[in-house]
Amino acid sequence: MELIIGAHVSYKKEEQLLGCVKEALSYGANTFMFYTGAPQNTMRTEIKEEKIKEANELLTQEGMDLKNIIVHAPYIINLANPKTSEFAVQFLKEEIKRVEKLGITKIVLHPGSHVGVTKEEGIQNIIRGLNQVVDRTTKVMICLETMAGKGTECGSTFEELKQIIDGVNYNEKIGVCLDTCHIHDAGYDVSNFDEVLLTFDKIIGLSRLQCIHINDSKNGRSSHKDRHENIGYGSIGFNSLLHVIYHDKLEGIPKILETPYVDKEYPPYKFEIEEIRKKKYNEHLYDTIRFFYK
Ligand code: FE
Ligand code: FE
Ligand code: ZN
Repeated sequence: MELIIGAHVSYKKEEQLLGCVKEALSYGANTFMFYTGAPQNTMRTEIKEEKIKEANELLTQEGMDLKNIIVHAPYIINLANPKTSEFAVQFLKEEIKRVEKLGITKIVLHPGSHVGVTKEEGIQNIIRGLNQVVDRTTKVMICLETMAGKGTECGSTFEELKQIIDGVNYNEKIGVCLDTCHIHDAGYDVSNFDEVLLTFDKIIGLSRLQCIHINDSKNGRSSHKDRHENIGYGSIGFNSLLHVIYHDKLEGIPKILETPYVDKEYPPYKFEIEEIRKKKYNEHLYDTIRFFYK
């Protein structure tokens, strides 16, 4: 089966989904992930039907599949905190409508941070919120992301994610997005990924796994920092990440890069995807990228 690999791309007012497809193609990707607006706010523009049509034509022409494309909910959406959960529910409902209109079937969501209340209360708030959002008519899969455990984040262990899933009535609509940087920062050993997957399968069940974020980490295992690094340049390392990407149990699951821009300016994805496809580490990645974009 073909490797499904892509990157985080930007959604711009004018070109919308069509712009995302073009950006992904410029990286040699066959899928992508995007926010339907700025990740740090909830202002969203009206979706243009003609851009969906054009995007779909280009997708088909290039052999991309809409079912592998991911939307990421804005990270300020916080279902865990009682002060923000009502707004989060309302926004998430609207976002799901937008996602369904685009024909996209997967949305990644950070479970939430329990600021001000206990973790257990935070988890109960997330469950309550999801039950207000998800019903039997929901078409999209909400993929809860495995978190690094930074600050008061819920969902940094497989057990916590399982507890949330178990609390949701229509939980056939709840999946998981595994982020390699986050699980590493949370304490899982990505260099022993077979073991991690066995644990995931035992606790959550492998069939829930719907998306993988491929990132190296700037920090050590269990650091709870959540700072992404370019693949092969952090403490997880190229070979461990390659093992995740080509793992036979993860075939067909979209893999998305969210690694940092070089010099805060140049997207690394074209070259990281090239390294991944060639299975060969580029020790001159930064120079290659600077040379290409300058
Ligand atoms: Fe995320
Ligand atoms: Fe992520
Ligand atoms: Zn992260």
